[in-house]
Amino acid sequence: MEKIKMENKIVEMDGDEMTRILWKMIKDELLLPFVDLNTEYYDLGLPYRDETDDQVTHDAGEAIKKWHVGVKCATITPNAQRVEEYHLKKMWKSPNGTIRAILDGTVFRAPILLSQVKPAVRNWKKPITIARHAYGDVYKGTEYRVPEKGRAELVFTGEDGASFRETIYDFECPGVLQGLYNKDSSIESFAHSCFQYAIDTKQDLWFATKDTISKQYDQTFKLIFQDIYEKEYKEKFEALGIEYFYTLIDDAVARVIRSEGGYIWACKNYDGDVMSDMVSTAFGSLAMMTSVLVSPDGNYEYEAAHGTVTRHYYKYLKGEETSTNPIATIFAWSGALRKRGELDGNKPLSDFADKLEAACIDTLEGGTMTKDLAGLWEGPAPRVVNSHDFIKAIRTRLEETLK
Ligand code: NAP
Ligand code: MG
Repeated sequence: MEKIKMENKIVEMDGDEMTRILWKMIKDELLLPFVDLNTEYYDLGLPYRDETDDQVTHDAGEAIKKWHVGVKCATITPNAQRVEEYHLKKMWKSPNGTIRAILDGTVFRAPILLSQVKPAVRNWKKPITIARHAYGDVYKGTEYRVPEKGRAELVFTGEDGASFRETIYDFECPGVLQGLYNKDSSIESFAHSCFQYAIDTKQDLWFATKDTISKQYDQTFKLIFQDIYEKEYKEKFEALGIEYFYTLIDDAVARVIRSEGGYIWACKNYDGDVMSDMVSTAFGSLAMMTSVLVSPDGNYEYEAAHGTVTRHYYKYLKGEETSTNPIATIFAWSGALRKRGELDGNKPLSDFADKLEAACIDTLEGGTMTKDLAGLWEGPAPRVVNSHDFIKAIRTRLEETLK
C-alpha cells in the first residue's frame, strides 16, 4: 500500500513518562507504516523544557497558530517533588496553561464510548462533551478573611476617578470576603470557540449560568452568548439542524442526567471544573477521555485528558510489565489527522483517521483490552494484554480494513 501524503504539517508535541513511551509505539505501529507523517516536532518532555528555559513550549504554541493543528502527549506539570527529581532550574508552569494562554482557547473533553462499558447514568447513550471556560472567576479571585466588625465595599475606579461604590455588607462579626472578575473579551472567545466546535461536530450546544441570582455577572455571560449566537451563528446552526440552548445551571444538571447525551455542555470555570470530573467518572475511565483545545480563530490542539501515568512508568522502569491504555492518545492523533485532512481537503487522510478509530473500537469490542478497562467490562471474559500487544492487535485490525 502506498503511504498517505500530507500537504501541511501537524505540530507534534512529545511529552513525559509512560505516555512518552506510548507515543513512540503509536507512531511506529499505527502511523508511520501508513502515513507519510509530516509533523513539526517539539519536545515538551520535562528535561528539554528545562534545558530551553521552557522556550520550547512557547515555540510550540506559536507553531500551532501557524499550522492550525497540533497533537500533544501528556506532560509533567512540575511541583516541588519534580523539581528535585529532575534537578530543574525552576518550577516551570503547566505546558497546557502556557499553550492555552497563547491560543486563548477553550478545552472540550469527551468520552469514547464502548457498548460493553455502561455509564453510571443508564440513559446516557452518546458522549457528553464538556467545554470549560478556563479563565477568571474564583480562579483569579481576591480573598479576605474579615477579622472584625467593619464595612465591606465594592469599589470600581474608572480612568477618570471613582465611579462606583456599593456596600457589600456591614460586618457585625468576623467573616469572609471574595472579589471575582471576568472580561468580555474572554467570554467572547469562549463563546466563539463553543459555537465553532458545535458546528464542527454537528452537536447541540447547551450553556447554563445562574443569571436569576447573579443579575450582572452571570447575566453578562448569558447576553454575550446570545448576542454572538444571533449575529454570527444562528443561520449556520439552523442549516445544520442543531440547537443553541440556554438554561439555568440547576435546570441543566437535571436535564443532563435525564438526557441521552450527544451534545456539548458549556460551563463557567468552576462549573466546568466540577462537572467534567463528574461526567468523566460517570462515563467510566479517564483513559478513554479525549480533549481538544479550540481557539476562537480556529486552531486545534488534540490530546488525551489523562496525565503521564507516573505509577505505570515507575513499574516500566523496573522492567515490570505494564498495561497502560493508549486509546485516548491514539484518538488525539486521529483527531489531529482528521482535522488536517478536513482543512487541506485531503480525504484519504481523514478516512485513515476514521479507520484508525474504528480499528481501536473493534479491537476493544472484540474483547482485547488493557487492564483498566477489564474491571469495567460487562461483556464476555476479556483478553487482557500489555500496552504493546494491545497496539499490535489494533494494527492487525487496521491492516485488515486498509487492504
Ligand atoms: P494520571 O497520569 O492521569 O494517572 C492517574 C491514574 O489514573 C493512573 O495512576 C492510573 O491508575 C489511571 N490512568 C490514567 N491514565 C491511564 C491510562 N492511559 N491507562 C491506564 N490507567 C490510566 O494522573 P497523575 O498520576 O495524577 O499525574 C501524573 C503526571 O501527569 C503529573 O506529573 C501531572 O502533572 C501530569 N498531568 C498531565 C496532564 C496533561 O498533560 N494534560 C494532565 C493531568 C496530569 P492506576 O495507577 O490505578 O492504574
Ligand atoms: Mg478538577
